[in-house]
Amino acid sequence: MRHSYEVVVAGGGPAGLQTARELAGSGRDVVVFEADEALGDNDKSTGGTFHQVVDDYGLPDRVVMDECERVSFEGPAERAVLSLPAYVLDFPKLQEWLGAEVERAGGTVHTGVRVQSPVLEDDVVRGVTITRDGEEETVRAALTVDATGPAATLAGPLGMFDRESAQRGIGMEFEVAGDYETGNELLFAFDHDVAPGGYAWTFPAGKTRYKAGICWVNGFAAARNPEGSIRDHVERWVAADDRWDSGKICAVHAGEGVWTDSITVRARDGIVAVGDAASSINPLFGEGIRPAMASASMAAATVGRAFSDGDLSRDRLCPYEERWNREYGDRWRLQRILSDLLYDFTPGQQDRFVRAIERLSDGGADRLQRYDLSVRDLLTLYPFEPRDLQKAPGFARQLLF
Ligand SMILES: Cc1cc2nc3c(=O)[nH]c(=O)nc-3n(C[C@H](O)[C@H](O)[C@H](O)COP(=O)(O)OP(=O)(O)OC[C@H]3O[C@@H](n4cnc5c(N)ncnc54)[C@H](O)[C@@H]3O)c2cc1C
Repeated sequence: MRHSYEVVVAGGGPAGLQTARELAGSGRDVVVFEADEALGDNDKSTGGTFHQVVDDYGLPDRVVMDECERVSFEGPAERAVLSLPAYVLDFPKLQEWLGAEVERAGGTVHTGVRVQSPVLEDDVVRGVTITRDGEEETVRAALTVDATGPAATLAGPLGMFDRESAQRGIGMEFEVAGDYETGNELLFAFDHDVAPGGYAWTFPAGKTRYKAGICWVNGFAAARNPEGSIRDHVERWVAADDRWDSGKICAVHAGEGVWTDSITVRARDGIVAVGDAASSINPLFGEGIRPAMASASMAAATVGRAFSDGDLSRDRLCPYEERWNREYGDRWRLQRILSDLLYDFTPGQQDRFVRAIERLSDGGADRLQRYDLSVRDLLTLYPFEPRDLQKAPGFARQLLF
């Protein structure tokens, strides 16, 4: 293995591989280091997504497990259905395909290589230290990309992403062999009996399979004293609803989310952070693949221009951070506030929230899909209760600082 490249990408998830794919495609000398033994070992994600991912990145049919026409939202007693075309991806296959695309574009992917720390010279990142087969090595690069997901292996210690003050959640799902009667929709349920302080989902995954899971947003789940583990809750969710068969569990996927309002430091001298390593996941519903890919494309465009100028300083890389904040960060900040309310809703509020979704116009549904909700949309969706007033000072601080 070589020990010097133009670009080193730490982490072979959607964000790292898409960044590498675009940079290799524009002629840069790129290597990706992935800690897992195979790219497809990263199977944590349900893979629910929208046409922007499938169309904009040219995903082939073989990475798509299912296509749906609707997205439904359920509260304890209410149900809303939005006509929104959606996809369920085979997440491991997405990684394998993106890895092949990186190599097709001339990049290199090494699996079984763990990135340990940045190489710093005069506060400029000049590459990484890695461990491979138990040995520590140094790999130098003009530009380093942190794409290690919620671990933020480089961005965390470099002070780009403050993981300590971030919101955390865990998700677990079963992939089940069995019929899913509502097989033409992605279903999200907000009901504390099912998913205390979080949400549950059931997505189709081909003709004879579905994926059903629970996400707990830590502080909100803990406050509701859930009985049993998250696995117990997924088992109950799968067993309790006769719209799907509680058939054979074929796989268990699980992972962690760590997120802020996404206003993080995305660039420093010699380094950019993309995807969940820079908290790009949508704070409202936890959708992470689409923003991970979007952040990768934005970063790659800026990095490409910075290479052409021969200047990889923060000043030159900053347009990526500015563009992210302009196109996503400001909206994500408001949605983080709604999410802090959503996971703490009373059962009555959960139902009113679902009813408000049902009343969204076609334009409103489209804005929800694109997370482009206006303040007016958010106020329409928000089922106000007087007890929420006491939370106002905290939210004002979040908005102002
Ligand atoms: C249970 C669950 C369900 C989800 N469902 C959905 C969904 O339906 N739709 C959706 O859009 N999003 C979903 N998400 C979120 C989505 O999966 C993530 O936001 C997305 O994968 C982020 O991509 P990423 O490339 O930034 O990070 P990751 O996918 O986390 O990839 C990071 C990669 O870096 C590697 N890595 C970590 N540390 C190191 C290191 N030190 N050295 C080298 N490699 C390292 C990891 O092994 C991993 O392969 C879900 C998440 C979970 C946990």
